[in-house]
Amino acid sequence: MTRKILVPIDVSETELTQKVITWVEAQARIDDAEVHFLTVVPVLPYYMSLGQGMVDIPDIHELKERAEKKLAEIAAQFSLPDDRKILHCAEGTPRDTILETARLLPADLVIISSHRPDITTYLLGSNAAAVVRHAECPVLVIR
Ligand code: ADP
Repeated sequence: MTRKILVPIDVSETELTQKVITWVEAQARIDDAEVHFLTVVPVLPYYMSLGQGMVDIPDIHELKERAEKKLAEIAAQFSLPDDRKILHCAEGTPRDTILETARLLPADLVIISSHRPDITTYLLGSNAAAVVRHAECPVLVIR
């Protein structure tokens, strides 16, 4: 069976993606694995809680469309055969959606970067930490 690698991507953070590219390419090359790129558009309970008229609530469909486009641009930077790149764009809580996708595929490996470079307080971001803690498959953390 084809090995599946799940690569969660925060499309708002391009520096992180640069770091994972070589690791994903190397892992995928081992056995011609499928690479599943996933970006999660967070749900908007915060905006909702402010109530109507307080702010312009971004249109979720428009946000998803933009995220999908960005994900495609990011995936294009990885040197992998096109038929081995699968793009997923979901709406939800990043950590839960990443874990659920890993379970459903099921993924043989998750490759995730540790945290945003500009946030130095944490060695492991909250989404990365939750994935390391709860995933049922190996997780490769890039830092
Ligand atoms: P930080 O809080 O420093 O941003 P995170 O744990 O949120 O740290 O991010 C680490 C990694 O988690 C990201 O590089 C990415 O792989 C994954 N991640 C975070 N947010 C998302 C998201 N919305 N969609 C997909 N993956 C995400």
